[in-house]
Amino acid sequence: VTPRLGSGLEFDTIRRIAEALGSRAPDLGDDCAFIESGGEFMAISTDLSVDGVHFQRAWLNPAEIGWRAATAALSDLAAVGARPIGVLASLGVPGETANDYVVALMEGVAAAAGAVGGKVLGGDLSRSPVWTIDVTVIGRVAVPIRRGGAAAGDGIWVTGRLGGARAGLESFRAGQTPPPYLREAFAHPEARVQAGQWLARHGATAMIDLSDGLAGDARHLAAASQVALEIELGRLPLGLGVQETAAHFQEDPHLFAATGGEDYELLVTLPSDFEIEHVTRFEREAGIPLTCIGAVMAGEGARLLLGGHDVTLSGFDHFR
Ligand SMILES: [Mg+2]
Repeated sequence: VTPRLGSGLEFDTIRRIAEALGSRAPDLGDDCAFIESGGEFMAISTDLSVDGVHFQRAWLNPAEIGWRAATAALSDLAAVGARPIGVLASLGVPGETANDYVVALMEGVAAAAGAVGGKVLGGDLSRSPVWTIDVTVIGRVAVPIRRGGAAAGDGIWVTGRLGGARAGLESFRAGQTPPPYLREAFAHPEARVQAGQWLARHGATAMIDLSDGLAGDARHLAAASQVALEIELGRLPLGLGVQETAAHFQEDPHLFAATGGEDYELLVTLPSDFEIEHVTRFEREAGIPLTCIGAVMAGEGARLLLGGHDVTLSGFDHFR
């Protein structure tokens, strides 16, 4: 079965792999793989970070690099409503690297896992021409929330605030020192594990974590659920400093936020009877906002609007 993913070179490649492997890889294309175990499921996912592609060592300290790499993987557990058990981290390390740097990086991995109730379970070390960090995460979930469950009539919601990680990134790229709150958004994202479990308990029909940007990730959810997502980008909750950073780069702040990757917030569909009292309870228990940004309809793809007018945007593609 061809995985139902949105457009992009990275996803075309995944489709080709799935076609070549056929029944040997029958269920690719969700945030986690699931293995039945003891009346529930093990949820497993993996995420690769490469120096110069996903991070620059000049911008962050090793603990921050480890935290980000682990959070990218833990976020996929959040996206299915799973509770983390632990992580395995494989490092490719250039020859001249001091051991202290490797240990500091693993401190960051352990901190990210510990922040959501997980431990470091193992890993591997190898010499490598370039720094790489591959983090595998393992969790458990009774009823996984997959990407394919959205139905016409559901509301589309997003946790937290968007655009902060991109604002921090653009600031680094421009050779600036980002203000502390933008550095924090880029260097120290949080996997929304507690929020994911809360949303799963309160009727979430489909979920995906925002790793490549809302514009691209919304298309994956639409493709998996075989529905259309209509999203008003003007409703996106913006992170601190996003407005100013977007203005600096002469971009609309909501479009800037919609194309920014690595915020690791959750995009979730909830039935139309999800009530406003639930929002208040979510915000109190999870400590972050929950915002309705659109509606699920019959059809296909993600229709993105700004002030009611159609806009065309693409997600971030590491293969580009
Ligand atoms: Mg994901």
